[in-house]
Amino acid sequence: MADGEAGDERPRDEEWFCRQRLADGLYLIRERFYESGNRANVWLVQGSERDVVVDAGLGLSSLPAYLRRAGLSGSRPLLALATHIHFDHSGGLRHFPAASVAVHRAEAAALARGDNVATVTWLSERELSRRPPEPGWSARRYRVRAVRAGRLLEDGDVIELGDRRLTVLHTPGHSPGSICLHEPEQGLLFSGDTLYQGALIDWLPHSNIQHYRQSCSKLLQLLDQGLVSTVLPGHFNTFGPDTLRTLASDYIAQAGICHKVSAGAISCIANIALRARNMGISTPDRGT
Ligand SMILES: [Zn+2]
Ligand SMILES: [Zn+2]
Repeated sequence: MADGEAGDERPRDEEWFCRQRLADGLYLIRERFYESGNRANVWLVQGSERDVVVDAGLGLSSLPAYLRRAGLSGSRPLLALATHIHFDHSGGLRHFPAASVAVHRAEAAALARGDNVATVTWLSERELSRRPPEPGWSARRYRVRAVRAGRLLEDGDVIELGDRRLTVLHTPGHSPGSICLHEPEQGLLFSGDTLYQGALIDWLPHSNIQHYRQSCSKLLQLLDQGLVSTVLPGHFNTFGPDTLRTLASDYIAQAGICHKVSAGAISCIANIALRARNMGISTPDRGT
């Protein structure tokens, strides 16, 4: 994985996205003006027959339009797949045809009804202060729009891209429908928010610590089989197998009874705050 290879671009001042080519047919795309630890990594995986976008960002600017403009998609069908439906990963799904959107079955209903508590929508003006999406834009009105995903994913599903394939691993815990995607031939693991190099979040209203531990064990098994060489996480930088082992092992070790009590207390507060933030916004189809 090399940084700064050919295929990177110097974005125009007004361009919402920027990209970095990491390998043949693999790009990292970021939302330039969303200055927050919640800014998700968007991955583009190109195959001979089909391309896949892993996560879709906030949806404040059209990701498929950017990909076409950049010459990164358009010649093959494009599947937009979310590792889970939290707003930083799923907000951009609305710009794709619903038939080519895929999420795990456990979160499809919440996405289809535009449930912004389940999507933990939480955005502030400060995070977009360098360039608000439009004059007078209000973060409070931002919502994840309802999307009826055309493809529902389950553990073990294989997404065929032609000359490469991604296997779906259901890894609940951070959220009920969290998934990782594994490409065994290349040793790539797209880990979503299950594992990244930052404080892991298991205190949201629909998080489950026991499931999270089991998901970490599942990823350690994959590692023990020598099937992971690079992890492409939902946030922050890529990392290797040693870091994956540390992150997963540390989570399992610290997720005892004391942790469950404190996470439960934080979850109650987060639940109240999220409901206050996301109730009473009555125009979901008009928010950006
Ligand atoms: Zn998340
Ligand atoms: Zn996230």
